[in-house]
Amino acid sequence: MSDHIFQAWHFDGKTPVRRPVDIQAVGRDFFLVEKERRHGPFPFIDVTYVGEQNGAHVYGLDESDGWRLGLRGEIPQELTGLLPAPRRYGRWVDRLGFGRAAVAFTAISAAVVAVVLFTPQWLAPLVPSSWEREMGDALVGDFGGRFCATPKGSEALSKMVNALDKDASDLQVEVANIDMVNAVALPGGKVILFQGLIDSARSPDEVAGVLAHEIGHVRERHVMQSLLRQLGLSIVLGGADGAGGSLFNGALSSSYSRDAEREADAHSIKAMSEGGVSPVATAGFFRRLSKIDGSENAKGNAARITGYMSSHPLSSERKKAYENSLIKGKKYTPSLTATEWKSLQSMCGDDPDVESGFGFDFGKDDS
Ligand SMILES: [Zn+2]
Repeated sequence: MSDHIFQAWHFDGKTPVRRPVDIQAVGRDFFLVEKERRHGPFPFIDVTYVGEQNGAHVYGLDESDGWRLGLRGEIPQELTGLLPAPRRYGRWVDRLGFGRAAVAFTAISAAVVAVVLFTPQWLAPLVPSSWEREMGDALVGDFGGRFCATPKGSEALSKMVNALDKDASDLQVEVANIDMVNAVALPGGKVILFQGLIDSARSPDEVAGVLAHEIGHVRERHVMQSLLRQLGLSIVLGGADGAGGSLFNGALSSSYSRDAEREADAHSIKAMSEGGVSPVATAGFFRRLSKIDGSENAKGNAARITGYMSSHPLSSERKKAYENSLIKGKKYTPSLTATEWKSLQSMCGDDPDVESGFGFDFGKDDS
């Protein structure tokens, strides 16, 4: 078979950034081609089918943790014989079907519900990370095509993530093309920054502070804790039928305990210090956001920022914690150069095939 080029996206499993790539099939192997780089060859025979996420077929690669390749829509005829046949969902979700998998998961947590309600903080680390990843994938997918990616923007985002986390290979950080000032951590090491947050920031370091805080929720295992707490509560309050959509909404809107927020801030402050990023910008950002929240110039802005504000009260205690962590005489560098910051800011605008806005239903795939 000669060269064929197909458009796709790719996670290399080492950096937490989704790259737009072309698939170049050469005989029994293929290459993933970016603007200035080519990855591979990868043997087709090592490719596994992971699942379907909001209209994209997602593949993995044997013995390459986190390696992902996504193809939107119909699989081109030339590749159907070479790639493994699509199944509806990955691994245990695939075997059980999503509805039953969700019920199974709820049943498992039902068995420990009494424990869950009281001790999620020690239970959460016992949930295998492969489960958590499956849950994250099933719940989030590709966010209805709203994740933005351009080579330069993705590179800038990756640089920021790597400055804030020494081993970020198991994180998946995305910018969602939604005009809302918010950032969330979801199961499976997923962190989503909303475009509205980036638009409201005056410098990359302001974004870095919020990002480091969400990474803190991931690293301290708060995400699973809060989900377990909610699952436990939903069983107690409403039975086991609340799958996909409501679970997702729960994960999005859930707020953490004050202790968890303090831990995430502490993680953020430490990560920024180690990455040489000044904490002062973040304190300033919080100050500005809390002013927007004040009724004087609320109107449009109020709705856009309620997401972050409702889950993250911008108390003076929080601002002070960031301000006070500044070390006099320490050399800080901006987390991105001016050019990189521009690429990140314009990533959603520059991505030609990104979807925008709300009006999509996460739970609709339930079978
Ligand atoms: Zn938080």
